Amino acid sequence: MSTLVSSNPATGAAVGSVQAASPADIGHAVARARAAQPAWAALTLEARATMVRAAAEDLKSAASRIGELATLEMGKPIAEGRGEASHCANSLAEDVDEIVDALRTEILEDKRTRTELHHDAFGVCVAITPWNFPVLMPHQSVLPALVAGNTVILKPSEETPLCADLWAHTLAKHLPADVLQVVHGAGDAGRALVLADVDLIVFTGSRATGIRIMQDAAAGLKRVILELGGKDPLVVLGDADLDAAAAFAVRNSFRNAGQVCVSTERIYVHRDVQDAFVDRVLERTKALVQGDGSTAGVQVGPMVNARQKEKVVSQIESARRAGARVLAGGNDAPGNFVQPTVLVGLDHSMAIMREETFGPVACIMPFGSDEEAVRLANDSPYGLGAAVFGEAAHAEGVARQLTAGMIGINQGCGGAQGTPWVGARHSGYGFHSGKAGHRQFAQVRAVSRPR
Ligand code: ADP
Repeated sequence: MSTLVSSNPATGAAVGSVQAASPADIGHAVARARAAQPAWAALTLEARATMVRAAAEDLKSAASRIGELATLEMGKPIAEGRGEASHCANSLAEDVDEIVDALRTEILEDKRTRTELHHDAFGVCVAITPWNFPVLMPHQSVLPALVAGNTVILKPSEETPLCADLWAHTLAKHLPADVLQVVHGAGDAGRALVLADVDLIVFTGSRATGIRIMQDAAAGLKRVILELGGKDPLVVLGDADLDAAAAFAVRNSFRNAGQVCVSTERIYVHRDVQDAFVDRVLERTKALVQGDGSTAGVQVGPMVNARQKEKVVSQIESARRAGARVLAGGNDAPGNFVQPTVLVGLDHSMAIMREETFGPVACIMPFGSDEEAVRLANDSPYGLGAAVFGEAAHAEGVARQLTAGMIGINQGCGGAQGTPWVGARHSGYGFHSGKAGHRQFAQVRAVSRPR
């Protein structure tokens, strides 16, 4: 066993440590998950759901500490860390109800045949989660897997082991032994789990790692659910409410320091309103308070680590060398911080307009017609979220032409309760949440007989 130290990206101080799993530990965890699975799956759907729901009160009590750990480990503002943990705890019962609804046996009948559609467990599920929403991502991946009757091994990001560990152990106390286990480690531990005797891999993270997981899973035809990155466009039409559009642009470019898979990464604005829009974005950007997320009032924390900062700064610098102009931020802030940055003078030859940035950067480019806006917005291998601001019918007409899994019209891309979290093109393979998402955690078995 080796020790995995979790450190605070705002200060560099150690937050705590966990034991990283050795290859032998991983083998044992998988064997225990395999052994526990038949009895877990033999319970009724309702019995499993009742056990998971029973953890809600303990998760509510632990939410403040889980949220503080999230902030200490990855830097997000404390209100957001606590908000994420309490949102998960408060919505657990409703989310479990929705999962039960999705996985209930369905009956199909025609003149001759009666068919039952059962939703069975796959077996052992590995959930590999990232650091940017270190509680929400385990919540969304682990709950449907468990309720479907899979046993689960959670491998949280090596950047946020402590908050995920506390979340998972608070839940696991309410479940039979070995139904939910946590394995700590970096990419090598994740890879060992994918290659082990497991049946379903649920992953949220980068496109590059998603491709590696799919390759590793292919030999065993293991099921994968991959939620990958994005390069989300925001289109601001000439008839948009510019205050609302600028407020959204700033919020969604800088939330969680831009470390959100549905961050606004590209902004296309009609050239007639570009100056007025940019002024509004700059005013709001300059008012943002950056600092240690543990300090009350801070709105933008640091990058999760030095590697992430280096990636963001190198994209900004490379765009600047190619002719982009920096209207706010852009300079090299100390430690792991990157100032909220606004760039103009961009084109699609620049890496910052093509590759996922995952940092606090608003990239603004003008367009002259709806056709051009649609072409620019769709000019990406990704297709996670998108947003269009404009007069309702006009915005809807443009939105309909965008290739993305989740599109917001005069709002962000998050949908009503029950909306799946889904990416098009390279932003995902399989998806989760909502009834259609929950069903992907189960194997359909159709049983038919004459009527
Ligand atoms: P990042 O580098 O930004 O953390 P990744 O997509 O690499 O993004 O990581 C997301 C999760 O995937 C983390 O839990 C990480 O440890 C895990 N991971 C990284 N590489 C692999 C791999 N080859 N196989 C399985 N899991 C991996």
